[in-house]
Amino acid sequence: MTVRQSTVDAVIIGGGFYGSSIAIYLVKTRGLRRVILLEREPWLLTRASYNNQARVHSGYHYPRSFTTAFRSRVNLPRFVRDWPQAIKQDFVKLYAIARRNSKVTAKQFERFCHQIGAELKPAKAELKQLFEPRLIEDVFLVEEYAFDSTRLAEWAVRELKYAGVDVRFSTRATAIFRSEADNNLTVAIQPESGGASSITCKYVFNCTYSGLNQFSGDFPRTQTELKQEVTEIALMQVPEVLKELGITVMDGPFFSMMPFPARGLHTLSHVRYTPHFCWKDEPGIDPYKKLDEYDQATRVDRMVRDAGRYLPAIRNAKYIASLFEVKTVLVKNEGDDGRPILFEKHEKLPGCYSVLGGKIDNIYDILEKLETEEFKSSLE
Ligand SMILES: Cc1cc2nc3c(=O)[nH]c(=O)nc-3n(C[C@H](O)[C@H](O)[C@H](O)COP(=O)(O)OP(=O)(O)OC[C@H]3O[C@@H](n4cnc5c(N)ncnc54)[C@H](O)[C@@H]3O)c2cc1C
Repeated sequence: MTVRQSTVDAVIIGGGFYGSSIAIYLVKTRGLRRVILLEREPWLLTRASYNNQARVHSGYHYPRSFTTAFRSRVNLPRFVRDWPQAIKQDFVKLYAIARRNSKVTAKQFERFCHQIGAELKPAKAELKQLFEPRLIEDVFLVEEYAFDSTRLAEWAVRELKYAGVDVRFSTRATAIFRSEADNNLTVAIQPESGGASSITCKYVFNCTYSGLNQFSGDFPRTQTELKQEVTEIALMQVPEVLKELGITVMDGPFFSMMPFPARGLHTLSHVRYTPHFCWKDEPGIDPYKKLDEYDQATRVDRMVRDAGRYLPAIRNAKYIASLFEVKTVLVKNEGDDGRPILFEKHEKLPGCYSVLGGKIDNIYDILEKLETEEFKSSLE
C-alpha cells in the first residue's frame, strides 16, 4: 500500500447535493482554503440527489408532521431564489384525497394547509373528471414545484471549480482516524484505479447519505438510528392529458405522478410498491453493494394497475425505465413520515460531522447548524 500524506482544511465525503453544497459553503462563506471532495461515483449528484421524485416540497405532503411541513414552507422560497435555473413551475399541481384508507379527509387537509399557510384552491371540474369519483373525495389545486437535478449538478461543478475545491471522482473513503498527537483527522481513501492512500485534515464532513455508517477506523457510527429502503421510481411517458400535471393522492397507500425535468418524463411512485425491501442500518452492511446485488425487477405493472383505479388515464402511460436507489430515513420518523435532518458532531472524533437531509431543501437547516460552528483554516 502506498501512502501519500498531505494536510488540508477539510475533507468532504460524498459529492451529492449536500456534500457539494457544504464544500462550497465552507470555502465561500467560512474561509476554509484547502478542501477536498471525495465521490465514489464518476460524477456529482448521481445517487439519491438524482434518483428521487424531484419534488420541491412545500408542505402539502406532510399533514402528519407539522414540523416538516412548516420547515418546507420556510425553505421553499429560499430554494427557488437560490436555484431558479433548476426549478420547474409551469405545470398544474393537484392533490387528490382518497375516500378510503386515507389518514386525512378533504376537510382536514384543507384545515392543515390553512394552518401552514399553503395555498389551496378547488380544482376545476375538467381536472376533477380525470379521477374516479367513487375513490376520490376531492381534488385541490396547489402550489408545488419540481427540480432538475442535472441543473443542480451543473451548478455544483461550476461553483466547486470556482471555489478551488479538489474534487476526486471514483474515490471511496473507507476509514476515518483520529490522531491523538495533533488533533487532526485522517481519511483513508481507495480510488477505483487502485493505490490506497490517506489524507490528513482538520475537519471531515460525512455527507454520504446511505453510506453514513460504512467507515472503519475510529468512526463511532451515528447515534441516530437509520432505516435503509431499496426504492423504485418508474419513469413514464404520460399521455397528452396528463402531460402538464403533477398529481399526488393522499394520504396513505397511494401514488404520485410528478414531472421529472432531468429527463422530460414523469415519475410514478407508489407508497406500496416503491419500497422493495428495507433493513436497519448497520456498519458492515454496505447499502450500495446490497442494491447492486439485488435483481431490480420492476413493479411498474402493479403501480399502474393500482394508480389506474384512481386515475384511469395513467393506464395509457408508457414505461421507460426505473430509478432504483437506497432511501435512508430516520427510524424515529417512520410513523409521522417527517423528513428532518441528521446533524451529528462526533464527540469522540472532534472535527468530524455527519449530516443527512431528508429532502433536498433541508440544506438550509444543515447550513444553519454549521453557521454556529467554529472553523479555522490551517493556512491562517
Ligand atoms: C426514492 C427517493 C425519493 C425522494 N424524493 C424526494 C423528493 O421528491 N424531494 C426531495 O426534496 N427529496 C427527495 N428524496 C430525498 C433526497 O433525494 C435526499 O434528501 C438528497 O438527495 C440527499 O442528498 P445527499 O447529497 O445527502 O445524498 P446523495 O446524493 O446520495 O449523495 C451522497 C454521495 O455520497 C457518495 N458516497 C457514499 N459513500 C461514499 C464513500 N464512502 N466515499 C465517497 N463517496 C461516497 C455517494 O456516491 C453519493 O454520491 C428522495 C429520496 C429517494 C431515495
